[in-house]
Amino acid sequence: MLKVDNIDVFYGNIHALKDVSLEVNEGEIVTLIGANGAGKSTLLKTLSGLLKPKKGVVLYQSQQIGGKPAQAIVKNGISHVPEGRRVFSTMSVEENLELGAYLRNDREGIKKDMANVYELFPILGERRKQPSGTLSGGEQQMLAMGRALMAKPKLLLLDEPSMGLAPLIVKKIFEIIKMVNEQGTTVLLVEQNANMALSIANRAYVIETGKIVLSGTAKELQESEQVKAAYLGGL
Ligand code: ATP
Repeated sequence: MLKVDNIDVFYGNIHALKDVSLEVNEGEIVTLIGANGAGKSTLLKTLSGLLKPKKGVVLYQSQQIGGKPAQAIVKNGISHVPEGRRVFSTMSVEENLELGAYLRNDREGIKKDMANVYELFPILGERRKQPSGTLSGGEQQMLAMGRALMAKPKLLLLDEPSMGLAPLIVKKIFEIIKMVNEQGTTVLLVEQNANMALSIANRAYVIETGKIVLSGTAKELQESEQVKAAYLGGL
């Protein structure tokens, strides 16, 4: 479904992604794990059209999308939930969700997807009229995910959904990611929380200072001494 081939991405002189290649097959949850500053967000921003690769190819459903405008990429079925879950805080929960569907005009489908989001995240239904700035961190993460789902993506890009959240909330969010995947959405999940990410992923890549240094099935990486030492806190 997605094939990233030898891409290089720069911020001015800073070489943030170095010859990065990875693949996501339809139906999978693939995770990219790595420390602060490794280049995880940069990769997602490149996939969703916010950054342009200087070299290499990004193929999505066999079409080259590297460097295409973000709006065209969303239209093609890729939605990005950015790090830090930027919701529109003065707008209500419902208005935020409606914004997620701004490129669609199938009213019935939008209504159905809104109902599905409220089913996945019942708390959002309870808070639908509330300004989203008043939601807790976990609820805002749910809203950011719900908003992305309103675009009816085939591929969902999630940037550190666990960031700054209590373990119980993280567990819940990961359960929902699994449910979304089971409903047919392919997921590329970027995480520092390697433990949780590997627990739901099919396959994984490890990125260090802009380079992919390891890849395999989630199980292989969970058992890898290198991953255990660096990312699983010796578990
Ligand atoms: P984090 O979890 O801390 O966000 P990350 O793995 O997502 O880490 P990136 O945000 O992709 O890392 O950053 C990769 C590298 O690019 C870092 O060295 C970072 O300092 C640099 N970088 C990121 N954004 C910019 C920018 N706008 N201008 C210059 N350098 C940047």
